Amino acid sequence: MKFDTVIIGGGLAGLACGIRLQNRGFKCAIVSAGQSALHFSSGSFDLLNELPDGTAVANPEEAVRSLDPKHPYAKIGDQFAFYAQEAKQLLLDSGVEVQGDSKQNSYRITPMGTTMPTWLTLADFTCLKNATDVIGKKILLVNIAGFLDFNTKFIADAFEGNGAACKIVSVSLPEFEKLRQSPTEMRSANIARILENENTLHALASRLNEQASSCDVIALPAVFGLSSPAPLQTLKRQIPTPVCIVPTMPPSVPGIRTQKRLRRVFELAGGFYMLGDSATTAETGDGKVYAISTVNHGDIALRANHFVLASGSFFSNGLWASMDGVREPVFGADVDFDPNRNNWYNASVFEPQRYRTFGVATDERFRIKINGKVQDNVYAIGSVLSGFDALQEGCGAGVSLLTALYVADQLKK
Ligand SMILES: Cc1cc2nc3c(=O)[nH]c(=O)nc-3n(C[C@H](O)[C@H](O)[C@H](O)COP(=O)(O)OP(=O)(O)OC[C@H]3O[C@@H](n4cnc5c(N)ncnc54)[C@H](O)[C@@H]3O)c2cc1C
Repeated sequence: MKFDTVIIGGGLAGLACGIRLQNRGFKCAIVSAGQSALHFSSGSFDLLNELPDGTAVANPEEAVRSLDPKHPYAKIGDQFAFYAQEAKQLLLDSGVEVQGDSKQNSYRITPMGTTMPTWLTLADFTCLKNATDVIGKKILLVNIAGFLDFNTKFIADAFEGNGAACKIVSVSLPEFEKLRQSPTEMRSANIARILENENTLHALASRLNEQASSCDVIALPAVFGLSSPAPLQTLKRQIPTPVCIVPTMPPSVPGIRTQKRLRRVFELAGGFYMLGDSATTAETGDGKVYAISTVNHGDIALRANHFVLASGSFFSNGLWASMDGVREPVFGADVDFDPNRNNWYNASVFEPQRYRTFGVATDERFRIKINGKVQDNVYAIGSVLSGFDALQEGCGAGVSLLTALYVADQLKK
């Protein structure tokens, strides 16, 4: 099988790159082993919240100039602001409604009820201008009875710590009875499936309206809309009180919706998405890659002019760590890591962890190297890259989106 570009990994980076390339007239295939980090998403996309030295960032467009040259954003250089805007536009054009600005971080609510800076937040979620926006608000904090991945007590403590007053209630509807028989079934995605039904939404709205008379805001778990924002819009139309959606523990309903939406847009643009297949090995020579093999396609190799590695970090198996090193399993690409294993981690779990900055080494155009030799037609994007700590710096989605679009624009047919 021959394509213009084969992308390995169909998470945020792989899909953004694939959509951009399809729109530029390329014929692309995405090979994707399984779930991506989007399935665990907070509902917000971070661009840059903190510099590696711990300095808080208010304006990512300004702060990016202080980053080390090895950081992926430093390779994008002066085009950072342009690609941040393009990335937001790609989400909007794909039907992923987001709010936020790359010149000014806003705040999102975490599953623990605390606030954190962020760049773009899905339109369903509450995006705060300041962490203290909840001061003086009377919040009705509602859970679905038996749903354990939404800890109302922690959330109420955090809201109250920021100056709000909370009342916790739990709502029970007959439609959830079957799920409640097994705690393992009482998960966000299953609840969201039940809440696709208009009658159930109507029953929920009636219950909420009965309780909401003296509150300013109703806070609900993010269990609405696996395929579209419609269920939440329907619910909101039936409730006069403002509604604030708070993320749950994984799986993330809005993250799954984003993944499904981006995949659909890629396929509608003519892209070929191979879900559940894994790239295994590559045919290389003369500083190029000619083809890759996958588990499902056996001896039918996938050939392409360009390959893009978007296989994620350790979490998604894009990087493998062993006792003596870190490796990238498909191409055997060079990886930036510290050979002294004692330096990989900090015993204090809340401190920055060195291993999180390990990843595939690339040249200034994001081309991978094998045994020190740059591969002319293979690029790496997203969280498989080295040079940043997505968690500490709060830049995970930004690196994935911006490197994806930057690389897509470098490729020539
Ligand atoms: C649990 C978790 C939660 C996060 N939440 C947020 C958040 O809320 N906001 C934020 O800004 N950032 C978040 N991040 C940071 C995150 O890394 C980025 O936001 C971004 O989604 C990563 O996208 P990616 O496409 O680079 O990698 P991934 O999402 O990891 O996708 C890589 C994909 O490649 C596939 N793959 C791997 N190997 C192969 C192979 N050999 N063949 C085929 N496919 C393969 C994997 O199955 C996976 O689907 C989170 C990260 C994690 C780990």
